Amino acid sequence: MTNHDDTRRDFLQRTGQAACAAAIVGTGAILGRRACSGDAWVIAPNRCVNIRLGVTGSDEVCNACAEQCVLPLSAVRAVNQHDRCGRCCICPAYFDVRSQVGPDGLPTKKLCPRDAIVRTPIGEVDPYDPLNNFYEYTIDDDLCNGCGRCVMECKDPAGLGSIRLEVRYDLCLRCNQCSIAQACPEDAYVRVGPEPAPAVALEGGHA
Ligand code: SF4
Ligand code: SF4
Ligand code: SF4
Repeated sequence: MTNHDDTRRDFLQRTGQAACAAAIVGTGAILGRRACSGDAWVIAPNRCVNIRLGVTGSDEVCNACAEQCVLPLSAVRAVNQHDRCGRCCICPAYFDVRSQVGPDGLPTKKLCPRDAIVRTPIGEVDPYDPLNNFYEYTIDDDLCNGCGRCVMECKDPAGLGSIRLEVRYDLCLRCNQCSIAQACPEDAYVRVGPEPAPAVALEGGHA
């Protein structure tokens, strides 16, 4: 963890504490509505349109988690579960597979609008057959805003569903009336108790 991370986290925590304090003394209607309840919020994977199976296509991506959080950079981020990832050479979450194919046989454009996915070769690279290589895909936490595009592309049938959207509990202010929950078109952003809930399995997903 970098000093930059520490500083940012300290700032966010102070901001959250200030919002709660303001609400407690009854100042500021907006801050009051957002006062932290102490309850955590989670994304229900079987409701979220970006995660649940059966919905595909870039036109279907819901951007509300990225756009509605009160934080400058949303508390929702993409997370790649490496033990589920196929480490594909042409990952549909990393590449824009609809873009033109370059001389190396790979799509010429990336999918992520914030260039937040890092692609690292695993082991020795075979320069004569790119498709013979495997790659690790890691999300850069400082860049990802939880827009969900990669999540939509990673799901079955194109991908293995290893990339999910998650609420970062170390960043979320636990607003009493979470702006994302209010905007969510799928009623997928749900309040749980004070303790973050364990991850829910995706129905119909790969084991
Ligand atoms: S959620 Fe959006 S910003 Fe984050 S890695 Fe995926 S495509 Fe990039
Ligand atoms: S409760 Fe919702 S709006 Fe508030 S910081 Fe967390 S994710 Fe963002
Ligand atoms: S607002 Fe709801 S449907 Fe949209 S990405 Fe967030 S949890 Fe999913």
